[in-house]
Amino acid sequence: MKDIHQDDKTIWYNCLQFIKMQVSEQHFKTWFKPIVPCGFKGHTLTIQVPSQFFYEWLEKNYLDLLHQVINQELGPQGKLEYSIVVDQGNKNHKAITMHLPAQQPGYTQPRQHTNKPAKSPFELRNIHAKRQESHLNTQYTFDTFIEGDCNQLVKSAAQAVAKNPGNTAFNPLMIYGGVGLGKTHVVQALGNAVRLNFTDKFVLYVSSEKFTTQFIEGLRNNVVQDFINFYLQVDLLIIDDIQFLSGKEKTQEIFFHVFNHLHQYGKQIVMTSDCPPRDLKGLQERLLSRFKWGLTADLQQPDFETRMAIIQNKMEYDGINIANDLLRYIAYSVDTNVRELEGVLISLIAHASLNKKDIDLELAKQVLKHIIRDIDTEVTIDYLQKSVSEYYRISLEDLKSKSRKKELVIARQVAMHLAKAYTNHSLKSIGAYFGGRDHSTVIHALQAVNDMLTTDQQFKKSFEELKKKIKLKSPQK
Ligand code: ADP
Ligand code: MG
Repeated sequence: MKDIHQDDKTIWYNCLQFIKMQVSEQHFKTWFKPIVPCGFKGHTLTIQVPSQFFYEWLEKNYLDLLHQVINQELGPQGKLEYSIVVDQGNKNHKAITMHLPAQQPGYTQPRQHTNKPAKSPFELRNIHAKRQESHLNTQYTFDTFIEGDCNQLVKSAAQAVAKNPGNTAFNPLMIYGGVGLGKTHVVQALGNAVRLNFTDKFVLYVSSEKFTTQFIEGLRNNVVQDFINFYLQVDLLIIDDIQFLSGKEKTQEIFFHVFNHLHQYGKQIVMTSDCPPRDLKGLQERLLSRFKWGLTADLQQPDFETRMAIIQNKMEYDGINIANDLLRYIAYSVDTNVRELEGVLISLIAHASLNKKDIDLELAKQVLKHIIRDIDTEVTIDYLQKSVSEYYRISLEDLKSKSRKKELVIARQVAMHLAKAYTNHSLKSIGAYFGGRDHSTVIHALQAVNDMLTTDQQFKKSFEELKKKIKLKSPQK
């Protein structure tokens, strides 16, 4: 409930903001603009209306709306009192009180919006409120959401919310990240967990596009009220891809209203977006500022280990055995997002079963060639050695030599590292290309490069530059 120490003007102003969205401009001007707030005491807001007729008109045509807005602003104890100007000249007022919820004899029983199941904008069937369809995909669970450094904060925040929806500091929970990084998966997992553990809670998943379409439909069919009432019943509202609300001002207004109401009543709101809130162009400031009430967490691109785990998991799920080096090859090659990774795996499985072939490196290369842009399946150690020596301005002979000069050692280690990452050669074979070194030297080189990448920013920068130059995608190791 809102702060009870507000004044009548603020309360009525807030009421008007909501009413404005519900009625046509003409009706708003005619029936609501002339109303003057003139007192707020206890839980009763008094408004002054110009005539008896005016009052009757409001009661006849806007009773439900007034009920709802008062309930929203003042809570269930809220009351609305009309002060009717009987004679403009002298201040003779006649007070009529409308109780909320209306239980007064003599009044037609108004509909109580928030307590009654409103018609779902999702379908026309009338369903029991508590077991409304959640529009969740039950396949998306926390169990199947592989955890890594890239998503750990998001996953644990989502799990915390799932344990205690509406009662954590994470309200709203706002998750952002690029496409295919698992936003939808993780919020649906949250929804599924709440549905499982809190059977009395009404969980609803909706994309912001669907929300917009429903709202527009509501406007067209004159059932915006039903649309809003439906949303006000939700205990956990998950709204996906909030960026699509950009520039849709009317829809944002409605969402703002739903958001406020749910938040005020301790209901949980979870949102996703493809960019951080501050970059959400075309979203009203007041809506954005609401997002700051809770927790904003981002999903990063999955690192190499997480990608490996995701592939392994997926293959296991599908009952497919996959060799380790193949696993590594795929995890190295597809480093953009999980959706793309999954696409590659599905394609691989499809090719394998269509051609009745095992999934091997040959097939993987073939499939990846069609899917991944830029991947150079022809990368050879010779090519890498040549590129590295050009980059470091040393000769090929020096690169392969036994010299322990520092700049040569670094260039050699970098070349070995790239050879491991981008070719299929074994450690032993890589060693052979570098003047017949043994595999432990190669392991040492890989380790040395990894160490430098984490400790030496300058080195890291030049390493990235080199990879760009030779048109390699960036593997993370
Ligand atoms: P987004 O909504 O961010 O675009 P999705 O949630 O649709 O991404 O994820 C794309 C695909 O990748 C989905 O099939 C999802 O199950 C999968 N995925 C994403 N992240 C993970 C993860 N951490 N573990 C397992 N699967 C994941
Ligand atoms: Mg998504």
